[in-house]
Parts: sequence; structure tokens; C-alpha cells
Amino acid sequence: MPVEVNVDDIVRLRKVHPCGSYEWRVVRIGADIGLKCLKCGRRVLLPRSTFERRLKSFISRAAAPPPEAAAPTRWLSAERADSDSTNTTGVEDSYSA
Ligand SMILES: [Zn+2]
Repeated sequence: MPVEVNVDDIVRLRKVHPCGSYEWRVVRIGADIGLKCLKCGRRVLLPRSTFERRLKSFISRAAAPPPEAAAPTRWLSAERADSDSTNTTGVEDSYSA
């Protein structure tokens, strides 16, 4: 399974950079993955296969749209169910009186 990686993700690699940092920001996605060292600012290009081998973990992910996009739909349906039951009760009371 290919690793899903986005620009501005912060990653930790297995191999330490000569400057002493393990942490990199993803600056380019393509056949090669562009990385910028968080400590010394040096940029490198790694073939995707090499990047996936060296990748240890993600420190932060730049993009997380799926959970945020799903939330409003759930909120909307919950509000609609509440107001429906309240309105129905009120209307029935006034008509029967
Ligand atoms: Zn560095």
C-alpha cells in the first residue's frame, strides 16, 4: 500500500541528517518527494520508494479534509430531527383544542 503524503506534512525519517535533525517538511510531491530539513533548511529530493523506506512516522499531517467534511452533514440531520418532533407536537395540540 503506497504511503499517502501531502505537501506541508512534517515527517520523521530513520536516518539522521548531518545537522542532527530527523524532521523534514514535505515541499514537493511527484515521482520524487521533495523534503526540506526543519533544522538547517536544506532541500533534498528522494525517489518515492526511498522516501517510503526511510519514513519512520508522520509528526503532523497538513491536510485532513475527510473528517471535517463529514461533520456538518451529521449536525444538520440531528438538528432537523429535533425541530421536527417539537413542531409536530405543538401543531397537534393547537388543532385539537
Ligand atoms: Zn538538516
